[in-house]
Amino acid sequence: MPDDRIDDTSGIFFVGRWSQIIIIIAKTLPENLENSKIMSDLPNCPKCNSEYTYEVGALLVCPECAHEWSKSETEAPEKARVWKDANGNILQDGDSVTVIKDLKVKGASSMLKGGTKVRNIRLIEGDHDIDCKIDGFGAMQLKSEFVKKA
Ligand SMILES: [Zn+2]
Repeated sequence: MPDDRIDDTSGIFFVGRWSQIIIIIAKTLPENLENSKIMSDLPNCPKCNSEYTYEVGALLVCPECAHEWSKSETEAPEKARVWKDANGNILQDGDSVTVIKDLKVKGASSMLKGGTKVRNIRLIEGDHDIDCKIDGFGAMQLKSEFVKKA
């Protein structure tokens, strides 16, 4: 019967397609594994330290504990520099510091005296790496090597 024959051929065709697809999947699988190995330079999971983290857009996902975090979260600490005062103590945003010596202030008629207390500093990039406000001087920038943590 002609109708049966059509069904048969389409059935064979269908199976043929599927086996092709399976072959394609099998062929690409080792490549995918290779890729995931290359991608293992992603940071480990901060929760369980799994190395099998993978990227989903801007997120990193841990397949072992399902923790998700953003890439910038893990990249930031790497880039973060450490600000140290004259004694080598680590400074943080919001710290209070004391100026350890008289400093000339650009545009100001008086010196910034050693011993001046500076509250609520903000750490910034650059040669003068502390952003602050000092009574009598206003907003200015200091070098961390000329202050010590109060
Ligand atoms: Zn994890």
